[in-house]
Amino acid sequence: MGRRSFPWLLTEVPWAEGPQFTRGTYEGLPLLSYGCAPRDKLATYRQLRAMGLRPGGQDPVAVLFVRHRASGTTSFASLYLIERAAPVRPMTRAKFTALAKANLARRICRRCGRDPLYVLPTSTRLCWPCSEIADTSTAHAA
Ligand SMILES: [Zn+2]
Repeated sequence: MGRRSFPWLLTEVPWAEGPQFTRGTYEGLPLLSYGCAPRDKLATYRQLRAMGLRPGGQDPVAVLFVRHRASGTTSFASLYLIERAAPVRPMTRAKFTALAKANLARRICRRCGRDPLYVLPTSTRLCWPCSEIADTSTAHAA
């Protein structure tokens, strides 16, 4: 594998009016080198997260490449339009569902298996009717 070069190329891009200088294309997307990507318009996933944003369902509009001089490798990162990014949701649906399930588990009576619609005492995990039965049976046994 030889060292790939990325010659400058004027192309139409989604983030600016009129052709912009790019470094060709990478997997069908305009390729940009570190430093020529407009920081006010494009951001990597990490940069979006740092701004409290997420891609929000949009596809990357460009690819950024960074040459690491020390290791001699090139890494690529997807670039997203900042104006199309969405704020990070404080709680995802998955987190919400997990929390709801945890709350539900705390409501299920371990004797009758029913959900009495209130959170059970953690010491017994029994609903009121069941804890009464448990109390009387222990009273009789004693
Ligand atoms: Zn019960």
